[in-house]
Amino acid sequence: MMTNLNVVRAEKRRYMAGTKCAVVIGASIAGLLTARALSEKFEQVIVLEHDSLPTTPVSRKKVPQSRQLHVLLAKGAQVLDELFPGFTDDLVAAGAVRSDPQVDTTYCLDGHPLASAPSGITTLGISRPYVEYEIRRRASELPNVEIRDNVEVTGIVLGDDHSTITGVNLLNGSVSADLVVDAGGRYSQALKWLNELGVPMPSCSQVDPGVVYVTRHYQRERHHLDGRNGMLVVPYPECPRGAGIVPVEGNRWAVVLFGLFDVDPGTTDSSMSKFAESLPTPAVAKLIRDAEPVDDAVRMRYPSSRWWHLERQRRHLHGLLVVGDALCSFNPTYGQGISVAAMEAMTLRDLITGDAERLPAKFYQAAAKIINIAWSLSAGGDMRFSQIKGKRTTSGKVINSYLNRYRLAAGTDPILGKAFLETANMLAPAAKLLTPAKIARTLRGSRRATRIAE
Ligand SMILES: Cc1cc2nc3c(=O)[nH]c(=O)nc-3n(C[C@H](O)[C@H](O)[C@H](O)COP(=O)(O)OP(=O)(O)OC[C@H]3O[C@@H](n4cnc5c(N)ncnc54)[C@H](O)[C@@H]3O)c2cc1C
Repeated sequence: MMTNLNVVRAEKRRYMAGTKCAVVIGASIAGLLTARALSEKFEQVIVLEHDSLPTTPVSRKKVPQSRQLHVLLAKGAQVLDELFPGFTDDLVAAGAVRSDPQVDTTYCLDGHPLASAPSGITTLGISRPYVEYEIRRRASELPNVEIRDNVEVTGIVLGDDHSTITGVNLLNGSVSADLVVDAGGRYSQALKWLNELGVPMPSCSQVDPGVVYVTRHYQRERHHLDGRNGMLVVPYPECPRGAGIVPVEGNRWAVVLFGLFDVDPGTTDSSMSKFAESLPTPAVAKLIRDAEPVDDAVRMRYPSSRWWHLERQRRHLHGLLVVGDALCSFNPTYGQGISVAAMEAMTLRDLITGDAERLPAKFYQAAAKIINIAWSLSAGGDMRFSQIKGKRTTSGKVINSYLNRYRLAAGTDPILGKAFLETANMLAPAAKLLTPAKIARTLRGSRRATRIAE
């Protein structure tokens, strides 16, 4: 016989799993991965996108960052494989390049390369449009997911109980939903719409590193970069300029040059060469001099890292969640956005089996833990630069000064190098760099490196 509690639980399960419809705003990476997660519980998932969705892997007008180089962190690739089995194999079949970042890629940290040794980590070189295209292709094959493009969401609908969102308004008409998920990206209007309904704006953390991105693609040849699969030049206080070189499908290199504090690499051959020559390694300048460009360079100024702290709000309207860049957007030079969006989708997939009433609070708490891992690395790392405004805690200063020594020691100690890459790829929390064994290695290694430099 069913107890009362069991009846309530069964009823809630029916609420989540019955003839229920979810609407997702935005058919980019966060929106499509959310749709994949929701498809396990909702009978119908409708994704609404105001852009025209291409049928080939090309960049999109309403996602201007899709023209810029994107890296897919190892954690993101793992989660994509969980959500869509065989995902990364399909990317490799389409021309993506698998690499061990500690062997095949040159990581230039604070002006010197990371010690090379097999790390067991696998990263994938693939273009951002291809990742989105493959996610879209797979999501659109799910029987209960419908993607509608050229549909603009203009607002959210508050139910008669004044505490539940019951759908969305469109330019023409509306769609009812039991759950609305906003994946409208950095310029999403969801928080403004909520505010118009009387919900206070959440507090917000913001860091502006003044990043200017310039990406261009080149024909890839085996001899480039001395046969390696890529390069990352990380900016540091003495050189607030960086670069990334990633192999992508079509036997191309995606090359990004980026400056902090509004230093602009420019988009001409000569400005890009001059910028590349100012980096601490000559390899980037050599590549863009030797390789054949296959398109024009494109520039983008990234506004700021921004985290809306919905996890701190006491009350939430039922039936609405905010995910992806709409919730938190990271300094792109750390390559975290796709991976965080994928991890949020996994979390949502696990939570929707539970109590619908408490879904927003539970989701934002869980998402905050994921975001915090990425934020402490990127926004925390940005605090090394004295030009960046923001409160510096004593513990933050101590950690950043330790990490300066860590990076120095990682130039000769492959074990430190591997732990650094695991953290940077979100496979391990930053705390892994602070274990007693790592601290001892760091102190030894950095002393040795300083002696050699003297
Ligand atoms: C320059 C740059 C470089 C980056 N590099 C990396 C990287 O290397 N690695 C990485 O992991 N991440 C990177 N990112 C972040 C990454 O692009 C995002 O995290 C990722 O795209 C997920 O974003 P999203 O899906 O939340 O939002 P978006 O990709 O911005 O998509 C939002 C979608 O919502 C749609 N939309 C918005 N409003 C409405 C509406 N009212 N109605 C209907 N549709 C709507 C938009 O058209 C769009 O399709 C970078 C970002 C920038 C800016």
